[in-house]
Amino acid sequence: MSTKKLPPHYEKQDNNELHFAVCPACNNPVQIIGLNKRLQHTDRPYAKHYHKSIQGLADFDKEAFESCSLAHPRDDLSKNSRKPACTERERQILTSLQENFDQVAYLFQLYSGIVMTPYLAEEMLKWYVAEQGHLYRGGSLINAPWVFVYLSKAQNLWGRKIKDAELRETLCEKVPTGTINDKDQFVTTGHEKVFFWFAKHKQTKSADNNLKETMQLFVTCDDKDIFKKTITFDYELFQRLMNTPDERRIYKEKFTELAQKYLG
Ligand SMILES: [Zn+2]
Repeated sequence: MSTKKLPPHYEKQDNNELHFAVCPACNNPVQIIGLNKRLQHTDRPYAKHYHKSIQGLADFDKEAFESCSLAHPRDDLSKNSRKPACTERERQILTSLQENFDQVAYLFQLYSGIVMTPYLAEEMLKWYVAEQGHLYRGGSLINAPWVFVYLSKAQNLWGRKIKDAELRETLCEKVPTGTINDKDQFVTTGHEKVFFWFAKHKQTKSADNNLKETMQLFVTCDDKDIFKKTITFDYELFQRLMNTPDERRIYKEKFTELAQKYLG
């Protein structure tokens, strides 16, 4: 498990120096194992949830631990399941989405190959609010940008700019009157209904004890699947995007203002 990039927090216990950090998904304390001493079964230090509060670092929250995706990955998540209450963690999800909504839009474009416009973003924001997306049981601070689009309803693909080469090809081949015009937009001259949406969010633990999360992008033409792609959540990329200085985030204002309007 990777942790928030904070310097490790030290505690003395029975003459042993223990190292702690904070779990990025549930904000509980985690113990870093193998930081000074080399481990037998792995050459990398790893973090383990710690079931007590560490003063000055983090309080132990049992309910948060039990719903933590890093502690308990789930491959049976239902899109409709919601947490019963909004706590500090869910409020943090909303704040992070607002402050980084330009990067959420950019990420969407990267993994879907479909360009995010303010209009599409607004459609998704309305849906996220109506669906209480911040309470989705499989949601956390680290997967917020993927969950945001995951929970959205199926969206029409007509007129959208498509960057992904494979998707462009599929749309031209499988949609009878479908083409990509000179502005990179997918268009049809017939009446085919072409939609995209996301399904099958899954959490699993990899061999090296890291959380792996995926979801599937589907494209349908008149209710028939014509394209499918597995998307693996890249937490470190999102972290880097969030740390990008403001002067290099040219769409920051436009997109974050939009997100504030709905999530603020
Ligand atoms: Zn956790």
